[in-house]
Formats: sequence, C-alpha cells, structure tokens
Amino acid sequence: MKLCKLANKSKEQSYVVFTTKQNKLQEKRFASVSPKKRIVFAPHCMRNTSICSAIEKDSYYICADCGGCKITQINKLVKKLNYMALYIVKGGRAISKIVKEQSPEGIVGIACFFEGDQAFKMLKEENLAVQFVSLTKDGCSATDANLIEVERVLSLGC
Ligand code: SF4
Repeated sequence: MKLCKLANKSKEQSYVVFTTKQNKLQEKRFASVSPKKRIVFAPHCMRNTSICSAIEKDSYYICADCGGCKITQINKLVKKLNYMALYIVKGGRAISKIVKEQSPEGIVGIACFFEGDQAFKMLKEENLAVQFVSLTKDGCSATDANLIEVERVLSLGC
C-alpha cells in the first residue's frame, strides 16, 4: 500500500475513534434532553437532486417531503418524536449559524466521519449534547445513511 493511502486510512480511523468516543461520552446527556430542544442536521448530499423540491435558504434546505430520498423518512421521525426541526445543511458554517439562532440543547448530526469529527470540535464550546450518525455511503452526492441507526439515535431517551 502506498504511503499516502496509509496516511488517509489512518486519518479516517482517527475520525472513527474520535466520533465513537464523543458519542459515548455525550449519549447520556443527550438522552436527557427533551426532543423539543433537539435539532437534526442532515447533509445536502443525501438529497435526490434530480427531483428534490426542498426549499433553499442561504446555507440550508428545508425538506419538502417529496419522497425522493431517505430524508423524507428522517423528517417523519423528527415530527413523530416532536423534535424542534430538521435542517439539510450545506456545510459546517450553517450548523454554527442555526445553533446560534435556535439555541437547541441537543443535536443529531448525520455526516461522513470527517464532518462528524469537525462538528464535534466546532461545537465543543457550546453547551450542547451531540450525537453523530455516520453515512453508510459518503461522497459529494447520492450519499446514504442507515435509517435503523438514525431512528435508534433520534429515539434515545424518548
Ligand atoms: S425527500 Fe426532501 S430532501 Fe429528499 S429529495 Fe425530496 S424534498 Fe429533497
């Protein structure tokens, strides 16, 4: 294996270790937060862009439930469990902005391991309980997540 491939694998592994540890550390606190004070962030790369009718805001989208991707099922769960909201974000800056505006106490972030790692670090100073769900297929488009795992995490403490 080439050196750069080894270095990338080792970086990816460090993201996995860090996010897994943070999830464990913050799980109990997250479970004690009322769903009404929790926000879910999903990545825009999960959208089915060929048919997506989500409403675009400056740094995020609001799902219009067209049924074209799994976000519609996540949105159903968010409503069923009485969460504050689901935002489909274009990047980390959107998360920071929404957290400042909405003041949630708990966050579920669905993302690739790199973004999960960055988000935990970015939100370290905020008084928040964060849980991360990794994508099962990452990349720039047509990404995917395991809905059973999303439901398990969203339902913690419910
Ligand atoms: S379900 Fe929502 S996010 Fe997915 S393609 Fe439709 S409007 Fe876009």
